[in-house]
Amino acid sequence: TKILAIESSCDETAAAVIEDGKKILSNVVATQIDVHKKFGGVIPEVASRIHVENISMVIAECMEKAGLGIEEMDAIAVTQGPGLIGSLHVGVQAAKTLAWAFNKPLVPVHHIAGHIYANRLIADLKFPLMALVVSGGHTELVYMKDEWSFEVIGTTQDDAIGEAFDKVGRILGLPYPGGVYIDKLSKEGKNIYKLPKPHPEKELDFSFSGLKSGVLQFIKRCERNNETFEPADLACSFQETAIACLLERAEKAMKQMQPKMIVLAGGVAANSCLRQRISELVSEKFPQIECIIPPLSCCTDNAAMIGVAGTIAYEHGVRGDASCTADPAFEL
Ligand code: ATP
Ligand code: MG
Ligand code: FE
Repeated sequence: TKILAIESSCDETAAAVIEDGKKILSNVVATQIDVHKKFGGVIPEVASRIHVENISMVIAECMEKAGLGIEEMDAIAVTQGPGLIGSLHVGVQAAKTLAWAFNKPLVPVHHIAGHIYANRLIADLKFPLMALVVSGGHTELVYMKDEWSFEVIGTTQDDAIGEAFDKVGRILGLPYPGGVYIDKLSKEGKNIYKLPKPHPEKELDFSFSGLKSGVLQFIKRCERNNETFEPADLACSFQETAIACLLERAEKAMKQMQPKMIVLAGGVAANSCLRQRISELVSEKFPQIECIIPPLSCCTDNAAMIGVAGTIAYEHGVRGDASCTADPAFEL
């Protein structure tokens, strides 16, 4: 099976050709980070305009790199949601147009299913599976009893983890996206500042807004008392505290659900500390569970992951018709 996949849910315009749900024949990503950097975050209206400018070129380049024509594809997969409405529309319209023009099935895909299935690029997935989804807009524990079955058993009550990283990055005066720079800066720091660790009532839920405010209050307190602090130590303390919150919940979920495999998914899966800590946790406390961490290149948004998830969706009979449209609040 060969699938052309298109992804435009946020600020990456991406296209990929995937064979048999695991082999990348081509994978093109045009990121808008440099544009949004100037504003310290994604400006939705700007993002959708740049998608419109780039999408045809990205798809053309993707087909050229694969050395294949669209007529050779079995289906066209596309991210239907969730994401920014204007951004999503661009990818969905492009996919619908190609599906119609080449008479190919259209396969709408959930963005987070894509992040989870990115792991299939490096390992055969084993079910029941637990996914720790950590991205710019999501922080979730997703239990998969079987292939293409998703149950969200924990979610964030306020900020997503990536959002918290980006906000703390801004507080520390780091460039956008803050997560990447906090990861770097933390390597020069130590976990020596005590920050508040939120404990939501539901034991598998997450919360990060209190921790983010804790960082702000810590800085304000230092300023009030004319004390100095080491930004690298603060970044490191924030990162370690946030990851400890993630792992506490992941540990509970593994105890409760006894999955065969745990996978990381989403942009924050690129975080070096999280990658290390989760491997340590699983090998120390759950040696019977296999822990899969996606390659760095497949953590942040890309279309390869949509192609992999799209292949499985295609096999499960998922189809979109002419009425298929972007769904910013698409549920898994
Ligand atoms: P969602 O997938 O929830 O719709 P999104 O697609 O906007 O959100 P992703 O591309 O999946 O988000 O991830 C982007 C996020 O990942 C940003 O918040 C960014 O700061 C974070 N991120 C990327 N690399 C790292 C890193 N090394 N450490 C921490 N965070 C990181
Ligand atoms: Mg992005
Ligand atoms: Fe994403």
